[in-house]
Amino acid sequence: MTPTRPQTVFAGLDQPADWPAPRGRPRPERLERELDALPGVGATFKRRLAKLGLRTIGDLIDHAPRRYESAADEVPIAALGAGSDEVVITGRVLNVSKRPLRGRRTLVTARVTDGTAPVTAAWFNQPWVADQLQPAMEVRLRGKPSRYGFDVKSWDIGAARATADFAPVYPASEEITPKRLRTLVEHALGHVVDYPDPLPADLRARESLPLKRDALFALHKPASEDEAETARRRLAFEELLLLQLGIARRAAERERTLAPSLGEAGELIERYRRALPFALTPYQEQAIRELDADLARTVPMQRLLQGDVGSGKTVVALYALLRAVEHGRQGALMAPTETLAEQHFLTIEGICAELGVTCALLTSASPKRVREAALAADVVVGTHALIQEGVELRDLAVAVVDEQHRFGVEQRKALGQGRAPHVLHMTATPIPRTLALTVYGDLAVSEIAKPPASRKPIVTSWIQEERASEVYTRLTRLLREGRQAYVVCPLVEASETTLARAAEEEAERLRRAELREFRVGCLHGRLKPEARREVMAKFNARELDVLVATTVIEVGVDVPNATVMIVQEADRFGLAQLHQLRGRVGRGAEQSYCLLVSRAREELTETAQHRLEALVSTTDGFELAEVDLDLRGGGQLLGTRQHGVSDLRFARIRQDRPLLERARDVARALGAPGGPLGDEVDALFSSADPDALA
Ligand code: ADP
Ligand code: MG
Repeated sequence: MTPTRPQTVFAGLDQPADWPAPRGRPRPERLERELDALPGVGATFKRRLAKLGLRTIGDLIDHAPRRYESAADEVPIAALGAGSDEVVITGRVLNVSKRPLRGRRTLVTARVTDGTAPVTAAWFNQPWVADQLQPAMEVRLRGKPSRYGFDVKSWDIGAARATADFAPVYPASEEITPKRLRTLVEHALGHVVDYPDPLPADLRARESLPLKRDALFALHKPASEDEAETARRRLAFEELLLLQLGIARRAAERERTLAPSLGEAGELIERYRRALPFALTPYQEQAIRELDADLARTVPMQRLLQGDVGSGKTVVALYALLRAVEHGRQGALMAPTETLAEQHFLTIEGICAELGVTCALLTSASPKRVREAALAADVVVGTHALIQEGVELRDLAVAVVDEQHRFGVEQRKALGQGRAPHVLHMTATPIPRTLALTVYGDLAVSEIAKPPASRKPIVTSWIQEERASEVYTRLTRLLREGRQAYVVCPLVEASETTLARAAEEEAERLRRAELREFRVGCLHGRLKPEARREVMAKFNARELDVLVATTVIEVGVDVPNATVMIVQEADRFGLAQLHQLRGRVGRGAEQSYCLLVSRAREELTETAQHRLEALVSTTDGFELAEVDLDLRGGGQLLGTRQHGVSDLRFARIRQDRPLLERARDVARALGAPGGPLGDEVDALFSSADPDALA
């Protein structure tokens, strides 16, 4: 057998990415084989597996169970009460039916009897179940009694005890029966025998870590909860170590890079402070002090400025940009979309002019001549196109990056070898501390914990469809009082074009129906920048009462008179996204409202219910971020997809904090003697333990 080159496991480290992630690690060849190499996998099944991100045998092996079924009582159907515990029933299918529910939903029901009584078992939004069930079939169902009869959480064909005790439950296996996925994983495990262990033997011994191969077996087929957890921790440790090594290398690299020292704040800053129509809050002042300390150094700043929507980050960002201008250098403000770049530009343009600072907006639509002039401005605002190849900024000293965390590779390109600007990352998606530590490691964080004025907290309601008409009654009342509103259209998995069409249709419908007496505009990603600006300007000038929009309004729109945010089919959105959307209102003195409209509670997943409940109960972004982390696990946290955490398969950010700290210590120790950690780590890992190979 040929041992693979173990250092390839650390391939992620070879990329000079500022946000390292353990990704793209080649595995032994047999694990790279596609899934139709396994028995029983045909084209259709293969396609379904691919939808789960499962393409190779290795993917399947790394597909960590979300949880393990604990033992559930098996009860006769006649004895089903209204209890809230999950139970197991077994029985014979009498008949199956499928019907559509409102909003592209489906309900599959089956009458099932076990001789004691019949019951109606219900599956929501899993139309394929209807094809898998046949009359007279034996089934084993796990779930809870409900108003339909019995809500099925997991199920198997046949009365064998497969769904029950301690079987792994894998994420997102809706289209694939749990049993089938488990069988498949078992086949895949047969290929694990020669999995090389990337951790050296002495490290494993010191940390009491099992072999990777054994850990993988135990993960998928544990004999006990303890065994599963030990296995998971072994795999999580490796993952976290990788991440921490990447962070350590990045830090070392940064220490070797030069940025212009910007000394102390001077006369321009003095004028800026005087020009602001308000005094800075203590949080803003604190952030500025931290920034100043960074800017005085020749090591490029990498600071994260966190603060809820409306907390006053932009003021701080402009401060940083002006610090560059003060030294005759350039500042750049980068937003994730052109709409947001335009918004930022409109916000800062006026004050820049007042200070005699040139400020330019650069979009993909800018003609060449405009582009060239823009690139010479003191402050340049744009999207990431700003730092792409071929764009020559005059003398960039400070870059502010809004809501975008993969900035690093391009930044180097923009400035050439060995030089980098000071970078301030801004985010309104609060990142829980635990997560920040994981991903950012040594990254400095400034936090604006409270917004400036004592704003009235936004009143949030969750409205289920049977009361949906209330929404427009309330909206109409507020609009008549002179307020403005946003209506956000459902998030469907579709192209930008489909989304745009849906928004236009909804706007048209509202114009004819509920909002007849009002002026309704529409904003979406398919509008040309010119048209988009026009719609925004009209809304700003109160020439429109309602803006029907896709999520393009998520960040950056600032109209204090807009006090109502309606989100249709709110259960389809992530928590962070809903929080962001809500942040579009509550910016003025008037009371603001956020109305989250969804289908009936029973039709929502538990997670969706928790999300909506959390939003109703608090407006605190940090609290919501923690809830989100609990609900989704770090790996799938919507707002943090870009932070590299989505690549964590085994680690659980909150509960693994001690493990994370240990991984960080080990990563530092590995790199300790003799400065740059690269060579040593590579050397260490290229001499991986041959005993680990079976
Ligand atoms: P963020 O970028 O964090 O969403 P902004 O910087 O856009 O927040 O600020 C939101 C609003 O609050 C803006 O209208 C801004 O002018 C105002 N603002 C910012 N700082 C203060 C302050 N210290 N006092 C009063 N209003 C402020
Ligand atoms: Mg802002």
